[in-house]
Amino acid sequence: MIIDYTPKLDFCDVLLVPCYSELDSRSQVSLVRTFNNFKWSPYKINCIPIFAANMHKIGTLKVAKELSKLGLMTCLSKHISVSDMNNFLHSEENLSSFFSAETSGKFFDSIAFSTGSKEEDISRLFSLMTAFPQVKIICIDVANGYRSSFLKFIADFRKDFKDHIIIAGNVVTSDQACKIIDSGADIVKVGIGSGSVCSTRNVTGVGYPQLSAVLEMQESVHNCGGFLMSDGGCQVPGDIAKAFAANADFVMLGGMLSGHNECVHEGTDDPCSFYGMSSYHAMETHYGSIAEYRSSEGKVVTVSAKGSISNTIQEILGGIRSACTYINC
Ligand code: 5GP
Repeated sequence: MIIDYTPKLDFCDVLLVPCYSELDSRSQVSLVRTFNNFKWSPYKINCIPIFAANMHKIGTLKVAKELSKLGLMTCLSKHISVSDMNNFLHSEENLSSFFSAETSGKFFDSIAFSTGSKEEDISRLFSLMTAFPQVKIICIDVANGYRSSFLKFIADFRKDFKDHIIIAGNVVTSDQACKIIDSGADIVKVGIGSGSVCSTRNVTGVGYPQLSAVLEMQESVHNCGGFLMSDGGCQVPGDIAKAFAANADFVMLGGMLSGHNECVHEGTDDPCSFYGMSSYHAMETHYGSIAEYRSSEGKVVTVSAKGSISNTIQEILGGIRSACTYINC
């Protein structure tokens, strides 16, 4: 074993130092960024670069609808099907109050479909892409982005979806991040073991402190033409500001968005029951069983009810805007 003795930091280990600022008010801060120079995709994204995670209780269509109104993005849960999409789009509430030509365009621009590497995930993704060709972003999400087959998997995807913006991960080191970008991804997702309902660090001993992962990787990811998404570990709005300050292009949130009215698929779901996508609960719920060779790498938690997600988003954006006035951004 080789031990790296350089300090490794999480968001809670640092603070942003204020400096002379020409910004007198938070209202002068714009959080919208345009991305129009992806390595592979000719598409552009114009958004507040914060994504709701593709976790079952976070990447819901109801969350996506609210976030799209506010300019944020959503990676939809891997378990959303074509009929879920159709039911949602054609529900009475949405047809009458939400989906004008303009809001519908904005909605489709603000969502990504997600897939894992399982056969059933891929065939579900292909059906979604056929039914909704207006969706431009695909998130290829595996727990361990170091598997040898993963790079070929991304390269094959790129052949099938030449123009799409592809997000792929997760990794925590530059070498593999650049291979992922070179294989066909536009955005690499960074974070192993930092999620709020993740137990990978305890179960396997593997992980990397999130702020250091972003800080150490951002330069090489940008040099190889990619963008970096910091995924996991944000617990308060200031953590998001720190991730952007470390030069993350996008930030993905799970736990901070949990417990809201919109964190449900059906009326009977409980928004307060939140769980890791590698927990026993997720394996049983979504795949019907737990393979003998697997152990759980996720937790099940009950979070408090937080009301409407738009209030939380306003709080988050207010915090980041204020951070920007302190540091003249
Ligand atoms: P959070 O914002 O809650 O701190 O982190 C969200 C991220 O945690 C997700 O986007 C995903 O990368 C990760 N995650 C979600 N479920 C699990 C799980 O069961 N196990 C592990 N290791 N990571 C998870």
